[in-house]
Amino acid sequence: MKTIMQTINPESFRDEELEEACRILQKGGLVAFPTETVYGLGGDAMYSEASAKIYAAKGRPSDNPLIVHIADMDALEDIAQSVPEAAVKLADHFWPGPLTMIFPKKEAVPKSTTGGLETVAVRMPSHPVARALIRESGVYIAAPSANTSGRPSPTKAEHVKEDLDGRIDMILDGGAVGIGLESTIVDLSTGVPTILRPGYITGEMLEDVLGEVQVDPAILSQKMNPNIVAKAPGMKYRHYAPKGQMTIIEGDTGKVVDEINRLVKEKTDEGCSVAVIATEETKDAYACANVRSVGSRATEGSIAAGLYDILREMDHIGAEYIYAESFEKDTLGKAIMNRMLKAAAYHVIKV
Ligand code: AMP
Ligand code: MG
Repeated sequence: MKTIMQTINPESFRDEELEEACRILQKGGLVAFPTETVYGLGGDAMYSEASAKIYAAKGRPSDNPLIVHIADMDALEDIAQSVPEAAVKLADHFWPGPLTMIFPKKEAVPKSTTGGLETVAVRMPSHPVARALIRESGVYIAAPSANTSGRPSPTKAEHVKEDLDGRIDMILDGGAVGIGLESTIVDLSTGVPTILRPGYITGEMLEDVLGEVQVDPAILSQKMNPNIVAKAPGMKYRHYAPKGQMTIIEGDTGKVVDEINRLVKEKTDEGCSVAVIATEETKDAYACANVRSVGSRATEGSIAAGLYDILREMDHIGAEYIYAESFEKDTLGKAIMNRMLKAAAYHVIKV
């Protein structure tokens, strides 16, 4: 199949520019589009053949559920069996925005969309193109990240093209996304609200609205568990991973730099291709041909926004060994380190 590439300016576009994308979605086809978190691979969430196509295009295991994207609260009536008070409060505060909530699903939502689960994940994105696409097509859009399963999520249209060219009907290129990490997922279908995936909306922000919020133990654990029903993403599958072997070095900055320089020399001497994931503050301190800055420590947001692009670049470099600095696991740092630890398959050296 030939993938249509269409550029769209998120700051100023006319709804008519989305006509072809809408037609594709209405006919059960697939359109990749920008959201404020990462690019999504969209298909009609209420049409099981469309969600089956999403799994096929991504090579995604069929028990890893999709997120359904909506443009207004009324849509919940068609999708969710019930909407708890807590969800209404969270929606008031954080929708449209990078928060996904889990509800018991209505019969009409096909199980192929929910990975066989009786619950459904729903998000109302804030990105103007995503919102217009949902509204104009009249389709509730199932959209996981628009990458090949297991690769880093796409934060630019080029990343989507790299993975899915020829496998989907269209890519809407709205430039680089703002946040760069997937949405926070919170499960409200059981007692205490539980974070299944950390993201831009932090636990503290949720607690300010709801009171007690807990974090799924699997997020904190250092292992991937193959026996878990895919409740929280990445608990089961290796995610976000570059092809090379990535190691995170933790400790005081000076010691981290020394240890990374030592490892770089060791592997370079063995004839291996090596790369370093550094920051603006440290990038000049490394003796390595392939040093990349992921962002500035002064603004965590820049690190979140740059992370997946850098992980993909590691593959372009052809790095066999990747050494990365680590970040504080505070606020946004929690989400950043959650993704980095998975990319590194939990290889960590403490200095
Ligand atoms: P992605 O958009 O690629 O990050 O994938 C969506 C993620 O949302 C999946 O990895 C799921 O684990 C999570 N998700 C979707 N639906 C559910 C659900 N019903 N219960 C728990 N997690 C879900
Ligand atoms: Mg994904």
